Amino acid sequence: MRMIGITPRLSDQTTGLITVTQTYLDAIHEAGALPVLLPLINDQELYEEMLSRIDGLLLSGGTDIEPSLYGEEKLPACGNNLPLRDQEEFYLCRRAVEMDLPVLAICRGIQVLNCALGGTLYQDIPTQYSRQVNHLRPDALTEQIHSVTLEKDSKLDQIIGKTQVQVNSCHHQGIKTPGAGLRVTARAEDGLTEGVELPEKRFVVGVQWHPEAIIHSNPEAQAIFKAFVQACGEKS
Ligand code: MN
Repeated sequence: MRMIGITPRLSDQTTGLITVTQTYLDAIHEAGALPVLLPLINDQELYEEMLSRIDGLLLSGGTDIEPSLYGEEKLPACGNNLPLRDQEEFYLCRRAVEMDLPVLAICRGIQVLNCALGGTLYQDIPTQYSRQVNHLRPDALTEQIHSVTLEKDSKLDQIIGKTQVQVNSCHHQGIKTPGAGLRVTARAEDGLTEGVELPEKRFVVGVQWHPEAIIHSNPEAQAIFKAFVQACGEKS
C-alpha cells in the first residue's frame, strides 16, 4: 500500500500538542493509501529519511508562513507563525519536487509550495487584495462559498472534468506571485489564484480550498485524492 506523509500543525506551543484534521487522513485512506504523520523535528537527516520512505507528500492547512521566507516584512494583519513547521515543510517540498515525488498541497500547503519555489503571498486578502469575495469562512467548511474557474488541460481540469466548480474557502492569505515553474490552473471569481501545478512533474498540485472536508458529498473533491494516490503509485 502506498504511504502518504502528512505534516501536522503544532496547535499549542505551550503544551506541545500537535493536531491534524481527521478528514485529511480519511481522504487519503479512502483513496486507497496509508496516511502517516510526519513529526515536526529540526533534523535534515530525518527529513531525508521521511522522503525516502513515503510515496507522496500531503502539505496540509495551518498557520501563516513567516513573511521573511518570501522576502517581506511582516504586516500587522499577518497571523501567527511556526518557524519549525515552515522550515521542515519548505525542505520537504523542495526536495519532493527535485525527486519528482507527488505533492498535494492544500490551503496553507499551496502557499508553502508557492513560497518554497520562490513565490510570494498576500499577507491578508481583505486589506491587500480585495474584499469582493469573503475567502475566510471557517464556519462553513462543507458549504459552497465561491466558484473557481479551471484552466483547460491542467491536471485539475483533467481530474474534475469541468471548467467551473463551487468550493469552500478558509484562508485570509493567497498567492501574489507564483513560484518558479508553477502554472496557475484555477482562479476564484475575484481573480485570486486557487490552484497551481508544476506541469513537468508527475503530480505537484496545489489547491487553496479544502477538498478533504467534502469528500463524502462531492465526487470532484474525492477525485483529487484518487488522482494523487494513483500518481504516487506510478514510477517517476
Ligand atoms: Mn478561496
